[in-house]
Amino acid sequence: MTYQDDNIFAKILRGEIPSHKLYEDADTFAFMDIMPRGDGHCLVIPKKPSRNILDVEEDSLAAVARTTQKLARAVLRAFSADGVTVQQFNEPAGGQVVFHLHFHIIPRFEGVPLRPHTGEMEKPEILAANAEKIKAALAAS
Ligand code: AMP
Repeated sequence: MTYQDDNIFAKILRGEIPSHKLYEDADTFAFMDIMPRGDGHCLVIPKKPSRNILDVEEDSLAAVARTTQKLARAVLRAFSADGVTVQQFNEPAGGQVVFHLHFHIIPRFEGVPLRPHTGEMEKPEILAANAEKIKAALAAS
């Protein structure tokens, strides 16, 4: 259960593959989930390598928590949502698929269930439009 730097989020951090970036600071990075379970579904990751919550250093976890709160507030405003779901999975048995620590942030609406995992990627133009809404809400905060 060691960190492997060929995971997809490490590649995004290194700029080797593209992402719809929302926010970045010295310790964290936030971007759109490419297979959203709801409009505005985004992810927050630490820059420092860690596999999941079981191995992350405290400072890195605290930084991710701060950015997660920032993004949760921003998506609530950006989509006029009724609530926000924050999810985080650890190891395959815990539902983890990408082995670089990440928190999911999903705007929620009364009576609207999460979309199932279909494995289908969202259209880039929709991800880009939703990213713009979230960035505008971040800029206004
Ligand atoms: P999990 O490890 O179960 O928390 O899920 C990993 C998440 O990463 C899923 O919601 C995927 O849709 C998402 N994902 C996988 N590849 C990418 C990518 N290249 N860019 C953005 N999100 C991704």
